Amino acid sequence: MIRILNYSNGVLTEPIQNNWLDNVNPATAEVYSVLPASDSEDVERAVQAARLAFPNWSGLKAAERSTLMLKLAELMERDLERLAQAESTDSGKPLHVARNVDIPRAIANIRFFATAILHTSTEAHAMDQDAINYTLRQPFGVAACISPWNLPLYLFTWKIAPALASGNTVVAKPSEVTPMTAFLFSKLCIEAGFPAGVLNVLHGLGPAVGASLVGHPDVTAVSFTGGTRTGAEIARIAAPQFKKLSLELGGKNATLIFADCDFEHTVKEAVRAAFSNQGQICLCGSRILIERSIYLQFRDAFVVRVNQLKVGNPQDASSDLGAVVSESHMEKVLSYISLAKEEGGSILCGGERVYPGGENEKGFFIAPTVIEGLNQQARCNQEEIFGPVVTLMPFDTEAEAVEFANSTAYGLAFSVWTNHVTRAHRIAAQLKTGIVWVNCWMLRDLRTPFGGVKHSGVGREGGWEALRFFTEAKNVCVKI
Ligand code: NDP
Repeated sequence: MIRILNYSNGVLTEPIQNNWLDNVNPATAEVYSVLPASDSEDVERAVQAARLAFPNWSGLKAAERSTLMLKLAELMERDLERLAQAESTDSGKPLHVARNVDIPRAIANIRFFATAILHTSTEAHAMDQDAINYTLRQPFGVAACISPWNLPLYLFTWKIAPALASGNTVVAKPSEVTPMTAFLFSKLCIEAGFPAGVLNVLHGLGPAVGASLVGHPDVTAVSFTGGTRTGAEIARIAAPQFKKLSLELGGKNATLIFADCDFEHTVKEAVRAAFSNQGQICLCGSRILIERSIYLQFRDAFVVRVNQLKVGNPQDASSDLGAVVSESHMEKVLSYISLAKEEGGSILCGGERVYPGGENEKGFFIAPTVIEGLNQQARCNQEEIFGPVVTLMPFDTEAEAVEFANSTAYGLAFSVWTNHVTRAHRIAAQLKTGIVWVNCWMLRDLRTPFGGVKHSGVGREGGWEALRFFTEAKNVCVKI
């Protein structure tokens, strides 16, 4: 049985209280490793290590931090296959997805911020009164980075890379459901020669480790990605302590399809947007709004394609969908499918658990599910399901499409499919969301601001936005 360990003050360690949690492979339903059930004592030790490491780390030249991070990226590249295998086993996602998306993107995150830090600049404001102001951007100390299970190493590195590159030290908590790649990453940090305490990785339950980290007085900033309810709980603890807070939360994204779209391309991409990573991406388009004149044609073509998706062993190159992340998550997704029926929806395909047989017979697999006939206010159209489930709805006018798209509490990432260039721009401006893709989905440029509005979050990640979050602006006014 593999024992995942914490990474604290430069070494791999067991939890102080020696409590452990089981780690389940969702494709087989078997426990295959154990991880620390850390608590506030482990948090205290890691935060103090990070606090003590801060002066030296922030005192290094940007180029020195950059060199270490680039070395780490090289080691990740060397171990890409091992990391991809681990990510697939831990999360249930197809190995080819981990190999081609998750791990390459995690490496890109490290490289992006390791090099971005070499090209920073700050503002200067000259005054009429013979004075000049300039802005210093300085790291602040210890940052807490808390990440979810859906894109484990990808989102973990998306947070810690800008934090470390800026000169902060970090205590990170990956999801307890998918801890393995963060553990392997800890080993690579040691191999790369990271100074003790610069990065600390604690495993365990959110309400124990995460909450204790968020409330720790020596943690200056919290960068969190996860569910909206957890984000609210984190804000409740962090806000009275005036911590810097970045919250990337849930989504209920709309895919807006107009009659003048490139039909075949749109069907293909709408399927990808709906079911990539078993629908467990905060950016997935789970509400598909279709102009009425092409509704039936689109619906039928969409369902044909969805029926061609293969659900099965994540190790198998032909599997389009693997397992969802856990039994409890599978039950939650299936309960929404039952709810959809109660709410008057018709299941066009899928709608049930899949039993692939062999070693995967007990795994947590769900058939990609397409539902129609629900009204906008149905809970299945308003609440985040975060699984392989989408709803289809017709609309009559552009105004109605925008109204439907904006009708939920969320606002993360919408996509618009049309060849009418003016309409695309007009709608993009009206959508209440942090990201709009036009005729594409999940085309990511790491320099762009990333994040949501309303219940999808507060603040932005990506590019300079992340480097701004992980630094404090200080104005210096000099009378000449
Ligand atoms: P959760 O909110 O359950 O957990 C996210 C992280 O927070 C985990 O590490 C979790 O630990 C930890 N946590 C849980 N409770 C607390 C607490 N009280 N204090 C501090 N930390 C805590 O989200 P999921 O892991 O279930 O991830 C899925 C969610 O993430 C979806 O809602 C999805 O939309 C959202 N998401 C948003 C993205 C965005 O960029 N906007 C991107 C990806 C996902 P543990 O796992 O141990 O409970």
